[in-house]
Amino acid sequence: MEFPNPKYDLIMDEDLKKNKWPSHLDGKDSDIIALEVTGKREFEKYCNLKTKGGWSLARAINTGVMNPTSLIGCHAGDAESYSLFGDVLFNKVIKRYHDGYNVTKRKHVTNINADEITTKWTAHSKEHILSSRVRVARNIASFPLNPTGSKESRLAICDLMERLFQNLQGGLTGKFYRHTEMSIDEQQYLVDKHYLFRGGDRMQAASGYHQHWPHGRGIFISDSELFLVWVNEGDHLRIMSLETGADIEGVFRRLFRGVKQLEEQIKIELAVESAFWFTPSHGHLTCCPSNLGTGMRASVHILLPNVLKLLSKADLDKIARKYSCQVRGSFGEHSKLIDRLDISNWIRLGRSEIELVQDMILCVNNLIELNEYIVDSNESK
Ligand code: ADP
Ligand code: MG
Repeated sequence: MEFPNPKYDLIMDEDLKKNKWPSHLDGKDSDIIALEVTGKREFEKYCNLKTKGGWSLARAINTGVMNPTSLIGCHAGDAESYSLFGDVLFNKVIKRYHDGYNVTKRKHVTNINADEITTKWTAHSKEHILSSRVRVARNIASFPLNPTGSKESRLAICDLMERLFQNLQGGLTGKFYRHTEMSIDEQQYLVDKHYLFRGGDRMQAASGYHQHWPHGRGIFISDSELFLVWVNEGDHLRIMSLETGADIEGVFRRLFRGVKQLEEQIKIELAVESAFWFTPSHGHLTCCPSNLGTGMRASVHILLPNVLKLLSKADLDKIARKYSCQVRGSFGEHSKLIDRLDISNWIRLGRSEIELVQDMILCVNNLIELNEYIVDSNESK
């Protein structure tokens, strides 16, 4: 294995390490959002600031500098990152990513009442959908975000959650598994089932997400296997609900039943008023600016064999973007398209949870119609 290993270790760009703007970027345009919105001049104005947790502009953009294929290219190390580096970096990144959302003027909106989901699947869509999943990202306000966290903070979160998972009720009871106690075969089995995370993401590693791997990482799996929680993948919690088939409303309802229970448990256990890092303008605070707001990604896995004869994943992604959605590969972000496509929300801030589900339904209905149209037009030749 390489040492240091760029898939797990925090490796800083040589210039950023010295708190200097990377010389190889001088005079060059970048497609990476963070590097496009902050240039050398801006960097030099703000580079000596540090949050109380120790996050700097150099640390924030290291992921984009180290990984030329990044899209966003920056991460928050702690909650304060969003205010201290708001003007120079994050506000502009958020505006660009979340469809023009202006954090200085707008307020996060929320609506988790599934009865108000009025956009429905078409009959064709239902036939093509293999599985449905909705997840939210949450960070517990009593702990630092993981990029400025320690082995101890990760372990404390893991210990806390292991205790609280035991109190889940209403069909959500299950078991917590730690990465340090799983065999390689068990891990692979859970990855193949699309349940588990396993680190090894260079973009995350460059912000310190994977520090102290695999300590303090784990997954809760309900007995039904329909409700899961990742602990310390990147954000403290990724709470998710999934099942085979197209019942996205049922999946959504179960997710928020679980979220509510965990939120209440955390408040009681830690004797706090708010369980999660949150601000009225940014909504839920997450390490990656793409996950702010609702922190939610509703997705389905579908097969589109006819469309894929004519269009690439990138072509489909362009279509999906019209509905504020995206196309991911068969095993999630940065994975290859093997058979199934993962269609899900692109933005998560500025629209409520139920609006996001509706965006995704509309996007999928249209892609599936396109697939049907291609069959029809081929048959009529
Ligand atoms: P996240 O946004 O939660 O980090 P990833 O893209 O990393 O998501 O995917 C995590 C896992 O969830 C992957 O194994 C992916 O295939 C799986 N997944 C995503 N959507 C679905 C779905 N609708 N049905 C089944 N598995 C899914
Ligand atoms: Mg992910």
